[in-house]
Amino acid sequence: MAFEGMLEDPVVQKYLHELVGPKGMPVAAAPPDGEVTDEELAERLDLELNDVRRALFILYENDLATYRRVRDEDSGWLTYLWTFHYENVPANLHDEMDRLREALEERREYEMNNEFYLCEVDSIRFEFDEAMDFGFECPECGSPLEAMGNDEMVEAIDERLDALESELGIV
Ligand SMILES: [Zn+2]
Repeated sequence: MAFEGMLEDPVVQKYLHELVGPKGMPVAAAPPDGEVTDEELAERLDLELNDVRRALFILYENDLATYRRVRDEDSGWLTYLWTFHYENVPANLHDEMDRLREALEERREYEMNNEFYLCEVDSIRFEFDEAMDFGFECPECGSPLEAMGNDEMVEAIDERLDALESELGIV
């Protein structure tokens, strides 16, 4: 199998699992070298044909598989011959992590640029403007809203960003 080494990477496994789900994982985890039909895969992996097709379509949507159609001369049926393109996995993963990093950076900025108030009874957090609109009283229970630090939140975001950036190879 051409992509064996890559498939042992837990990051790749997790990525594929998130894409195709547990039922599609046997398909995603065993990319054949050449072309294969959905029926062949279903038989080989002992899966429902629908689950195989669903997984293949998700891989197709993510540029990880392509197909070509051929008509069987005897039956006239169309057969789909699938080819896996896991050479695109690293680029997809990189894009995915880039998106996550952008989301984390936006979240970090939001945390840094806002003051927060907390109702300790309901564990609801309010932005400063909201808290002021409510006269610094919880709209649910009437308790006073207390100013709340978010250093821990920002630290947690920073840690995730550091981990992500070292995975992305950004120094
Ligand atoms: Zn409350």
